Amino acid sequence: MTAGPRVVDLIERKRDGGRLSAAELDQLIGAYTRGAVPDYQLAAFCMAVVWRGMDRVETAALTSAMARSGERLDLRRFGRVVDKHSTGGVGDKTTLVVVPLVAACGVPVAKMSGRGLGFSGGTLDKLESIAGYRVDLSTAEFLAQLERIGLVVTGQTADLAPADGLLYALRDATGTVPSIPLIASSVMSKKIAAGAHAVVLDVKVGRGAFMKDLPSARALARAMVGIGAAHRMAVTCLLTDMEQPLGCAVGNGLEVAEAVATLRGAGPPDLLALARLAGAEMLLRGRKARDRRGALARIDRAIADGSGLAKLRELVVAQGGDGRMIDDTGRLPRAPRTETLRAARTAYVSDIAADEIGLASVRLGAGRERKGDPIDHRTGIVLQAKVGDRVERGAPYAQIHLAGRDTDRAAVTQIERAFRWSARAVPRRRLVLGRIASR
Ligand code: URA
Repeated sequence: MTAGPRVVDLIERKRDGGRLSAAELDQLIGAYTRGAVPDYQLAAFCMAVVWRGMDRVETAALTSAMARSGERLDLRRFGRVVDKHSTGGVGDKTTLVVVPLVAACGVPVAKMSGRGLGFSGGTLDKLESIAGYRVDLSTAEFLAQLERIGLVVTGQTADLAPADGLLYALRDATGTVPSIPLIASSVMSKKIAAGAHAVVLDVKVGRGAFMKDLPSARALARAMVGIGAAHRMAVTCLLTDMEQPLGCAVGNGLEVAEAVATLRGAGPPDLLALARLAGAEMLLRGRKARDRRGALARIDRAIADGSGLAKLRELVVAQGGDGRMIDDTGRLPRAPRTETLRAARTAYVSDIAADEIGLASVRLGAGRERKGDPIDHRTGIVLQAKVGDRVERGAPYAQIHLAGRDTDRAAVTQIERAFRWSARAVPRRRLVLGRIASR
């Protein structure tokens, strides 16, 4: 940094609970992106933010600085473009169901997705189960496809909010991920740079999510709605359960198959419920429905008439993927072996630890421990019972898809242990825990 306060003064001010101005944050983030501030100083700054927090104005200013660190897309010529983002969870393939439904209803959707890390899955990894599917579209390809078919799902281009890419890698290595202003600015800077007019955010709550409890999830949602308001972006946050995995499939190819089944009207009830709700919110934000009832009816129609499924196929083919894998999910990559877990006695499922299932899927090869690790699109788990279900003695409750790795045994044990059982009936978990939205 050249003019203005020294970086160390800014770190010390934040360390002591002070505030930074928009100009100071702009300078700091700009200089870091150019390589003019070393990682150790930004790491110290992030740790100070973890402990001291940031107020609304500072958080919005940090977000602007990150969004301005690279290119910003202008999507105004496409009408009202709506984005969707999940803060990440286990078995969360909602995007694969929702975005084609919404696009089939006439709302343009331009989405940049991420990869999975740790117990959390990523949409790009799931889509790459489909042979040929490209997640590296250039900005020109991104815009051309949005124009042509009204739907794009690709990886974030390197030019978009580059400060976030750098900062996220630094936070990942320095224990500074769990901070509401840092998470909120990270998510929202990408959304703002990507140019959508509105975004529907699925804030996951529970053991399989960043936010472990409802008060922190609410605080994150409020922070993101506040940032949206400061940037004239309409934001709707749904707060949804991530104590148990979403749907039944966990693992990339298996999740694509489940998303296709849901678009055919034969998906698990929780995934279908979330897809309908998020889809309806997107239609409302895209001004394609007057009220929630009308929006839900349109989403239901796009499932019943097959237009949502046709749109997914169109997306896949547009991005170089093999559309036959959507027509027949039996063509998706398959693990060489499966193993079925069966109930030792008749009982109700009282708990399925989402984080343990997610970690077991990493052991099976379906996820990665470190950024850049390769993954196996064939492996994973299909839950055959969810919390509240009664399972008869000897009946199956999980099917595990294995590729013959050294860690398979440990994964199977971890899946068995993730389940808790009760002799008494157990209520089903509530899926939607709240909604926080800007006007
Ligand atoms: N997702 C993001 O994009 N950023 C974070 O900091 C956490 C989750």
